[in-house]
Amino acid sequence: MTGNKKQTKQRPPVIVVLGHIDHGKTSILDYIRKTHIQEKETSGITQHIGAYQIEVPLKGKITFIDTPGHEAFSAIRSRGAKVADIAVLVIDAVEGVKAQTKEAISHIKNASLPFIVAFNKIDKFGADSQRVKQELLKEEIVVEDLGGNVPAIAVSAKTGQGIAELLDLILLVAEMEKLEADFSVLAVGTVIESFLDSQRGPIATVIVSEGVFKKSDVVATPSAIGKIKKLEDFQGKELLQAEPASPMVVLGLEQAPKIGENLRVFLDLESAKSQIKKIEEKKITEVKENDKDQKTLHLIIKADVNGSLEAIEQMLMVIPQDRINLKILKSEVGAINESDLKLAKDFRAMIIGFRIKINQTAAIFLEREKIKIIQADVIYELIEGVRNMMERMLVPKEVRTDLGKIKVLIVFMTDKNRQIVGGRINSGEVEKGARLEVYRNEELVGKGKIINLQRNKKDVPKLSKGDECGILYEGTGRIEKGDEIVVYKEERQKEIL
Ligand code: GDP
Repeated sequence: MTGNKKQTKQRPPVIVVLGHIDHGKTSILDYIRKTHIQEKETSGITQHIGAYQIEVPLKGKITFIDTPGHEAFSAIRSRGAKVADIAVLVIDAVEGVKAQTKEAISHIKNASLPFIVAFNKIDKFGADSQRVKQELLKEEIVVEDLGGNVPAIAVSAKTGQGIAELLDLILLVAEMEKLEADFSVLAVGTVIESFLDSQRGPIATVIVSEGVFKKSDVVATPSAIGKIKKLEDFQGKELLQAEPASPMVVLGLEQAPKIGENLRVFLDLESAKSQIKKIEEKKITEVKENDKDQKTLHLIIKADVNGSLEAIEQMLMVIPQDRINLKILKSEVGAINESDLKLAKDFRAMIIGFRIKINQTAAIFLEREKIKIIQADVIYELIEGVRNMMERMLVPKEVRTDLGKIKVLIVFMTDKNRQIVGGRINSGEVEKGARLEVYRNEELVGKGKIINLQRNKKDVPKLSKGDECGILYEGTGRIEKGDEIVVYKEERQKEIL
């Protein structure tokens, strides 16, 4: 135990809304915003940032991440950050489960997030949440009223039906999750949005995870540093401090930080500069521990300028990650150096270099180690290289193709697991090395392959319909006169992400 007393307190849940395009994520978020937040009408312009917080009277606060779409979510996750506590999976009750619904389900499962299913558009003709519940069974999601443990609710973002119940359900799940944060530690948050404002400078939207941020705090992420000049809430109102689970806007950073990075408070600029790297390295080690059971491609990105890094990262997030995860260990400007290679070796990571060189000491190291590096001057080539690498990590599927059929006319020799038989090809083609299934009265009696194929006692690679053939068979069972042999091949098919 350290001398510091922990001040762990309950905090509001942070919610992410996921689902297929047009199933109503934005509409639900807008409905909740409109019915729970009084927008300021003074300037006529309401500034929308990537998150907002509501208070359900007498029940509690909820923070919503208002950047629907999986890309932002994956960008945050790819850095190992966990920003949301609970997901709401929105499914159109007319359309049912679609491609991106499945993608969202993999994201949720990968992140081990508790979640609630919201069947939306229940006001529409043809809406049928019972049918969608059945579809979800195929995705191994069993909702509560079918005996499972996933809470589900029918809602309409148009009429508002079920939305109050959805909020109650969120608070109920949050209560079961016992969400707490230490309010006494040096504050940490996750960047969910960041940009450069021509008048106000670099701006970051951050969800506070622990501690309390205050004006004048010295803060840093691995890519940005500064002193908080001003803190604002999600409506642009100035804040003196921001507590765990609050969305806040930070002004005063010298650079725009990257999405998904942690923003931390430091005692002074010196310690911020010296410690931020160490903290990140430690985080990387933790990521490594967590990834043991999951197929993950770790990446180290090096590029000529910051803008290129951002562009590369954004394009990478478009690659589907439901089967192979992408994790960016490091993304920085400059030549590929020895420490990049060491990190790559440690993680069996891939290095991608955009418009940069490998420095000399690194080149020597590289001669001794096998490390995957791709360098290019075109972003697209790098992205394709990463995609190919991910596809190679997938277990290939065996695909069967039937080639032809043989009628067995005579058995010449039988020895242990080998036989020599003669027959006629009744359909298709037969080739040496192909696999065989032996059928007798339509019942499978043996399986094996063609070790050798002959015609008129001469070895041949291939024969076709009408030909008579001699086969050296190796496999199970005993072939008899009159059997039918099905010839097929099995090929490994390259998997596509
Ligand atoms: P998103 O892509 O998931 O964010 O979907 P949107 O919120 O943009 O909604 C897609 C379309 O569905 C829009 O035209 C909405 O007006 C409509 N929509 C969303 N929710 C409902 C609903 O509950 N009922 C009806 N009738 N239409 C809805």
